[in-house]
Amino acid sequence: MEVTIEYPEYPEVFPFIKVSGTSYEMGKQRGRLLKDLIKNYMHFFLGRCAKVIEHERQREEFLRLQDTFEKYTPDLLEEMKGIADGSGYKYEDILVMNLASFPGVDEAKRERRYRGRSDYPNPFVPDCTAFGATGPATADGQTLVGKNWTAGYTPTRVVETYPYRVIVFKNPSDGIPHVQDSSPAGPFGEDGMNAEGLVQIGSGIFCLDGVKAFRDGKPSGIPINFLNHETLSTCSCVDEALKKLEKIPRGYGGRGMVVADKENIVRVEVSYEKIHVKWPEIAGYPANYVMASANNYSSKEMNQLGLTKEQYYSSYKRYERAMEILTSEAGKITFETMKRISRDHVNGPSKNSICRHGRREDPIVCTHGSMIAQPHHNRVWTLAGIPCQKNWTPFLLE
Ligand SMILES: [Zn+2]
Repeated sequence: MEVTIEYPEYPEVFPFIKVSGTSYEMGKQRGRLLKDLIKNYMHFFLGRCAKVIEHERQREEFLRLQDTFEKYTPDLLEEMKGIADGSGYKYEDILVMNLASFPGVDEAKRERRYRGRSDYPNPFVPDCTAFGATGPATADGQTLVGKNWTAGYTPTRVVETYPYRVIVFKNPSDGIPHVQDSSPAGPFGEDGMNAEGLVQIGSGIFCLDGVKAFRDGKPSGIPINFLNHETLSTCSCVDEALKKLEKIPRGYGGRGMVVADKENIVRVEVSYEKIHVKWPEIAGYPANYVMASANNYSSKEMNQLGLTKEQYYSSYKRYERAMEILTSEAGKITFETMKRISRDHVNGPSKNSICRHGRREDPIVCTHGSMIAQPHHNRVWTLAGIPCQKNWTPFLLE
């Protein structure tokens, strides 16, 4: 039986804001513009993460991470200071919220919570599907990258941060204008596109080397979602983004990403220690230029660092289905194809389909939003809700 998901404060469209200037100025504008939303979000966050924040070990972790940010991405700390000043919160609160929500400790938190459970991973973990195509794979040769965001729900409340998602357009005084999804005061987005046409859209992956590093007390690097901010601000193409991703130490959490520009598309799988990049072959056949990612490592090189098909059936099914559509449509993929993938119900509609629907008898996971990037048009489309029931709204990067 299908259940109706209640979305507290659920938006019709995701709030969209534009900020510009130095990192501090952009943060301050954002803090002011989203003041009420930040207040609600912080209330929600503190309730959800209070135990984590109180934990001594986690506090040390956050302090160490601040030093790492200073070294590799100091502008993000400046932006958090601005958000604090603009919204009236203390800088420390904004910092801890950013570091406690996603970052290095996230995968380790999950591991502790679910250790020993045969049904691991727990259903109440956000599980997304990303997919893209370019060049010979698309009808007009232009790049398209899309994604469904998914969150976990209990029957009575949303357990993830989704109703608070905002779309932020940043025009930095010393960087590349870019658009990213984000929570109101951070954590900064996982997905986005910049004005040079670089797109990074991906999905979280539980990685065993990150869990081991955390257990062994090895330091976290910059969590991958913050790293994505860094590449979107400073890199104009896939090559530059890969160089940056390889240079900066990463957090404990893994990720699979479709990274593209106006000519190239790759799939990047990262863990704490490793990166694997899948490039198209040097060949012109259309299906060579499609990529997808779900919540398992698909490459032979990385697969053993993540979960098996038995442990995470839905992820493997969503990946396989996205690739099935992309390869069968290769050569004629259009914006409409991307919408169709977001709305796909094969293997469902259930937690195993790309458009994911919660069911009472199953763990309740539900797609709660979608993004489609068109770098050749400087345009990003977002949809708040279940893709098969809603429509996408365009935002222009200008
Ligand atoms: Zn659906």
